[in-house]
Amino acid sequence: MGNVDNLKAQLIERGKQLGFPVIGIADARPFDLWLRAVEMRGKDAGKGGRGLGKLTPYPKNLMPDAEAVVVAVHPYVPHPEEFSEGIARYSAHYVEYPAARKAVEELAEVIVRGGYKVMVEPPLPAKAAAYRAGVGTFGKNGLIYVGKYGSWVTLHLILTDAPLSSDSRPQALSLCGGCRRCIEACPVHAIADDGIILPERCLRAYMLTSEFIPLDIREKLGTRLLGCDVCQMVCPRNSRITSQACLPGDGYLRLFDVYALMKALVEGHRGSIEAVASLIGSNYARPQRLLSSAIIVAGNFGKPEFVPLLIKTLRHPHPPIRAHSAWALGKIGGRDAMSALAEALKDETDQRVIQEIERAQKAAG
Ligand code: SF4
Ligand code: SF4
Repeated sequence: MGNVDNLKAQLIERGKQLGFPVIGIADARPFDLWLRAVEMRGKDAGKGGRGLGKLTPYPKNLMPDAEAVVVAVHPYVPHPEEFSEGIARYSAHYVEYPAARKAVEELAEVIVRGGYKVMVEPPLPAKAAAYRAGVGTFGKNGLIYVGKYGSWVTLHLILTDAPLSSDSRPQALSLCGGCRRCIEACPVHAIADDGIILPERCLRAYMLTSEFIPLDIREKLGTRLLGCDVCQMVCPRNSRITSQACLPGDGYLRLFDVYALMKALVEGHRGSIEAVASLIGSNYARPQRLLSSAIIVAGNFGKPEFVPLLIKTLRHPHPPIRAHSAWALGKIGGRDAMSALAEALKDETDQRVIQEIERAQKAAG
């Protein structure tokens, strides 16, 4: 086994080459901070927050001889709030994360070559690990802020038995002071006054889920297909990077053309769906999830050109897709939409969808 100081220097050097300019080391004690936050959220802790329930605060439950958690920070430039007409918005985070997830596997090779074990992306609380590793502090929006990169970062972990020296140091939990901009800007009031995030309210919990989405949330989702960046966009600590926000290239934007995406999903064109999956990951890009959310975006764009596709999705086997289609048709309105709703009502057997169709008829009528 190699010299651990040398190993840490190699990690930092390789990290820079792989897009991780900041790397910190946390020791492998339990993450009490995260446990306390979960307890404060009480019974709601497991709802809405994707993956929250799979995390453990105990590194040694995953690797009994664990010594350290490497925290690698990948900064990125966000997308602007507004995309072109007809294009669903997606947050850059969801593209950057899978790419950096692959890069962190390469970073872990440095440790393996040094003769130690690794677990890449262990189910540990990444933000608590980042704070302990001294790489950042918490914002009231629940995100980790890393120096000049702000919260526009993805965090990646490697659990190891290598006795790397910890970078923990005394530091404030948050540098937000009296600022409340993210609390006031959140469209669904998902950030409590004390800065505790209510994951069951956050819009991110409703994206690409393929479940019934509450009516008020559908409106608030607007034309976002994946991700919400409002609480980061308004943050003064992010302004340097936020001012550099840029749209994805044309090729990527075309993948999120809602009409084309819905058509591909309705007609089963695997090529377009696979292209989206290669960008945001196949878990998010499951056809049923994509279609369910794309229909909400179509309803919020409110363009009559979507009506023929929505008439087809109104007959989809998955009830939430039929419900969202009825809602979108009610918002867009018009003779064809009304007659499709009336026809669907004759055959519909699911009570929740029947209610949606009746509500859509009133909205359009
Ligand atoms: S991501 Fe959006 S919905 Fe969630 S807390 Fe931030 S502003 Fe609110
Ligand atoms: S907007 Fe203000 S309160 Fe919210 S994270 Fe940024 S600095 Fe903190």
